[in-house]
Amino acid sequence: MIIVMKENATVAELGRVLKVLEDRGFKPRPNHGAQRTVIGIMDATGDDLSDVADMPGVDQVAPLSSKFKMVSKDFKPEPTVVQVGDLKIGGSEFVVMAGPCGVESTDQLLSTARQVKASGGRVLRGGAYKPRTSPYSFQGLREEGLKILAMARQETGLPIVTEIISPELVPLVARYADILQIGARNMQNYALLEDVGKERKPVLLKRGLMSTIEEMLLAAEYLMSGGNTQVMLCERGIRTYEPATRNTLDLSAVSVIKRVSHLPVIVDPSHAVGHVDYVADMCRASVAAGADGIIIETHPDPSKALSDGQQSLTLEAFDELMVSLRPIANAMGRTMIEPVGK
Ligand code: PEP
Ligand code: MN
Repeated sequence: MIIVMKENATVAELGRVLKVLEDRGFKPRPNHGAQRTVIGIMDATGDDLSDVADMPGVDQVAPLSSKFKMVSKDFKPEPTVVQVGDLKIGGSEFVVMAGPCGVESTDQLLSTARQVKASGGRVLRGGAYKPRTSPYSFQGLREEGLKILAMARQETGLPIVTEIISPELVPLVARYADILQIGARNMQNYALLEDVGKERKPVLLKRGLMSTIEEMLLAAEYLMSGGNTQVMLCERGIRTYEPATRNTLDLSAVSVIKRVSHLPVIVDPSHAVGHVDYVADMCRASVAAGADGIIIETHPDPSKALSDGQQSLTLEAFDELMVSLRPIANAMGRTMIEPVGK
């Protein structure tokens, strides 16, 4: 159920409504919007709240019938803007996150981070813990990788996004990262979602390889119902019968999510197409589709990358791509910061 307060409802009226709901054993979750407050009670479905509807300050009591509750626009009509330091994601700026698939060395990460910053990238990506299909593939530098990421942030000022692959690692990774990434393979790892839901750091939740949009939104609901409201959704391609690309980029997911949810949407063309030849086109298409940002893999020497070299842009190609994104972002009514290295 949701209780929609009147635009002119007072703090005291809101307090009285919350008190009545708490006294009945509910856990009311107020969302203070720009216009009005909406109180969500996720655990009340068939309960009779007609007396609450008559309380001063209450506009209406309505069922929250969709499967999505806290992620839905019914609960929160205005877009969520995720704040990472000074950076706002989900507002007017189109945000580019970029970096290598995995952190491999100090030199590799620092040279990438400098170029990401110089070209106008806003967030540095890099995996320290890599969930690999084969146990014999590079698994990441682990804590050493987190330390290198922290060093790159220190030098460039770029916030870092890095993946958490298991619940035990949440405290450690949360100490280093600015944005906690939940990877495609872990989108439905409910123990991990619950632990990350207790954190107060922004989360980038990636769509599972074979997950529907609805399943992704319900995974986000785990994070939000745990109390973490700083959630971004990431479309990274889904497995289909088409072998020409690693996955099939479901760009329509951007529109679908924007229609039902207030959460920012980021697209990851690198993992979607899996080949460097198609990445730039899909980055440009992501801007035009209305995404709030993209996350891209880039490497100083992709031929020597320890993971995902085939889909990583060279630093020069990344810079060229950034130049081509800006007019599209502007045409979409979005800003991008001027590159600082020019
Ligand atoms: C990644 O971003 O490095 C990654 C492993 O992506 P995904 O979880 O989407 O496969
Ligand atoms: Mn990768």
